[in-house]
Amino acid sequence: PPVELPVHDAVLGHAADFGERPALVDGTDGTTLTYEQLDRFHRRLAAAFAEAGVRKGDVLALHSPNTIAFPTAFYAATRAGATVTMAHPLATAEELAKQLRDSGARWLVTVSPLLATARRAAELAGGVREIFVCDSAPGHRSLIDLLGTAAPEPELAFDAAEDVAVLPYSSGTTGVPKGVMLTHRQIGTNLAQLQSAAPTGPGERILAVLPFFHIYGLTALMNAPLRLGSTVVVLPRFDLETFLAAIEKHRITGLYVAPPIVLALAKHPAVTRYDLSCLQYVLCAAAPLDAALARACAHRLGLPPIGQAYGMTELSPGSHVVPLDRLHDAPAGTVGKLIAGTEMRIVDLADPARDLGAGERGEILIRGPQVMKGYLGRPEATAALIDADGWLHTGDVGQVDGDGWLFVVDRVKELIKYKGFQVAPAELEALLLTHPGIADAAVVGEYDEDGNEVPHAFVVRRSEGGEPTENDVLLHVAERVAPYKRVRKVTFTDSVPRAASGKILRRELRERI
Ligand code: ATP
Ligand code: MG
Repeated sequence: PPVELPVHDAVLGHAADFGERPALVDGTDGTTLTYEQLDRFHRRLAAAFAEAGVRKGDVLALHSPNTIAFPTAFYAATRAGATVTMAHPLATAEELAKQLRDSGARWLVTVSPLLATARRAAELAGGVREIFVCDSAPGHRSLIDLLGTAAPEPELAFDAAEDVAVLPYSSGTTGVPKGVMLTHRQIGTNLAQLQSAAPTGPGERILAVLPFFHIYGLTALMNAPLRLGSTVVVLPRFDLETFLAAIEKHRITGLYVAPPIVLALAKHPAVTRYDLSCLQYVLCAAAPLDAALARACAHRLGLPPIGQAYGMTELSPGSHVVPLDRLHDAPAGTVGKLIAGTEMRIVDLADPARDLGAGERGEILIRGPQVMKGYLGRPEATAALIDADGWLHTGDVGQVDGDGWLFVVDRVKELIKYKGFQVAPAELEALLLTHPGIADAAVVGEYDEDGNEVPHAFVVRRSEGGEPTENDVLLHVAERVAPYKRVRKVTFTDSVPRAASGKILRRELRERI
C-alpha cells in the first residue's frame, strides 16, 4: 500500500526510539549525531525555518557536499513545508543560478566554502530571500543560530499524494538536467518498496560516499538507513584511500556504490593494504555494471556477488533490486527483480505497441506508485515520458529472463547502429576493461567516411599493465565479438568524463570528436 506520510515522518518516525544510537558520523573527524539529536534538531530547525518565513510549498535549495548536517537541514525543510531541491556542490554560479531560477527557489542553504558561489548565483537568479549557512559565516544566519530560536514547531497538514517533497534534477547525461517533481507519497512508498527487498538494519554501518544531492545517494545512503536505525558514516567526496581507510576504521557493513567504485575496488593496488573484512555486501546502481568486473571485485574482497539496483530520478528512484537474500542465486549481470506494487513491459524498439517476451531486447516501460508527478514546468517533456496509461518509457534497453530477472543493456539513444545492427557501447566498454592494460574506457558512435556509425573507444591506459597500442586495443575487442561490433577507432585519454552519479558523459566525448 502507498505510504501516506510526509517524508520526514516516513524516515524519522522511529528516530526518537533509537535514542542514543549514532545516526550520523563524520568520517573525517568522528563527530557524531545520535538519533535523539537528529530528531530534536530537525524539529527545532523546522520551527526556526517557519519563523524565518519558510511557507508551505516554498522551494528551498540545499547546496552542500555530504555532511552530518545535511539530513537535519533536509528533514527540517520538508517539515516546515518546503520542497527541497538539491544542488551540486561543484556547480558554478551560473549553473546554480539556472537551477534556482528554474525551480523558483526562495531559500538557499549552503556551507561557508561555497558561500561566494551561492551569493553570486542568488544575485543572478533573483528571488532568493535569504541564504543560510550550515556552519558559520559573517553576515549570514547559520543553522546553529537558528537552532537557538525559540519557536513553536509548525503543525502543517500534508497531502502526501500531491505535495512535492523533493525536486531533484536528473543527471543531465543526455541533455539539460530536468527538475523532477516527487511527492511525499512517491518518496515514502518507493523507500518501503525497496527496503522490503534490500533492508538495512540497526546493526549496520553504511558509508555515504555517493552524493546525497543525487536521488540515488539521497535514497540509499540517507533515507533508507536512517529509516531503519543504521549508522551513516559521511564522507564529503570520493577519494579511494580515504574511502578504504573509512571502511576499515568504521567497520562498514554495506556499500552502495556506482560502477567506477567497483572498478577501483577490483583493480586498484591500494585495496589490498586495508582490512575490509567488515564488509558484508556491495550494491551497485546508476550505470551499466559488467558481470565480469562485478565478479572480479566480489572475489577480491571475499564477498558474496555484488547486487544491483535499477532506476532513474523519475522513479523516485527505483523499480528493480536484487534482494539481499538472493545475492547468491541471482544470475550474473542482472539488475534485479521488479519490486512490489510495480509493473514492467519490454516493448519492441521499432514498434512500441508490440510487447516482447523473455529473452528479447526492447525498451523498458515501468508503471507504479513511484512514477514521478512530472517535470517541473515541462509538460511536453512529461507527456513524452509518461503515456496516457501511466507507463513511463525509460529510454533504456533491456531484457528479462524466464524467472523475471532484468538485464539492462544500455540507453536506446546510445545504441550504435552499424549497417542495421545494434551495438551497445556499454558491452564494448566492459570488454575493454578486461584488458590488463586498460584502466578505464568509454565508447561512442562516430560516422566514418562511408557514412556508417562505428564504435570509437576512448581508453585510459594503466601504467602497471603495459601500454597497449591502438592495434592491441582493436585486436582485444575484435578477437571477442562478432565483426559488426568491432571497435574501429581508438583515442587514448587521461580520464573518462563522468557525472557525479558515476555515469559516463558520452555527449562530452562526442563533442571532442
Ligand atoms: P538525464 O535524464 O538528465 O539525461 P540520467 O538519465 O543519467 O540523466 P538519472 O536519473 O540519474 O539521470 O539516471 C537514470 C539512468 O541511469 C537510467 O535511465 C539508466 O540509463 C541508468 N541506470 C540506472 N541504474 C542502472 C543500472 N543498474 N544499470 C544500467 N543503467 C542504469
Ligand atoms: Mg534520464
